[in-house]
Amino acid sequence: MLVDMHLHESTYSLDSHINLEQIVTIARQKGLDAVCITDHDSMGLREYAAEYAKKVDFPIFVGVEYYSLQGDITAWGIDTFPDHRIDAQIFIDQVNAAGGFCVSCHPFRNNKRGLEENLRRVRGLHGVEVLNGSADQEANRTALRFCRELGLKAIGASDAHTTEQIGKYVTWLPEKVTTLADFIAQLRRCDTRPAIWNGTGYDVVDAF
Ligand SMILES: [Zn+2]
Repeated sequence: MLVDMHLHESTYSLDSHINLEQIVTIARQKGLDAVCITDHDSMGLREYAAEYAKKVDFPIFVGVEYYSLQGDITAWGIDTFPDHRIDAQIFIDQVNAAGGFCVSCHPFRNNKRGLEENLRRVRGLHGVEVLNGSADQEANRTALRFCRELGLKAIGASDAHTTEQIGKYVTWLPEKVTTLADFIAQLRRCDTRPAIWNGTGYDVVDAF
């Protein structure tokens, strides 16, 4: 399955210009099988997203983009998250204690919100965004190098805040799943690969 694993919806991400209906419509047009909503320090959309996913019969997995003291981490499978910035390691430990999944997003993006060298220090992180739609290619290539060095899962995600960005980069997974629990189980169990929108479909890649 192909999933865009990092999207911002305008209700709870105030810097986003896209709503859930636009996200699902464009994701479907591009042939995606599911999307993730990872708003900034919010999982407020959870209830509405569950309702909407059912109504339109399209899987929407709500996680969070949590701003730890060392940088942003996207996470799924947690019920709550700290209401203030805490150490990345403590947050990662909380995600693992809940049986969740967590990813270092845009680790080398030039906005100083990535984990950068802390990637080597933290333990228990599952994946790294090696293709993030808001980071430049050099930052993404550095992320890929770290991802391989650390043996973490390679994640692709648009980090979209506008319609044009939706589905720019996505993640390939071997099986189609529809529930968050199955999604997390598969993420933890299987190898993932990033994929790039080529204008008509997706190229699943190992390098770029
Ligand atoms: Zn983001």
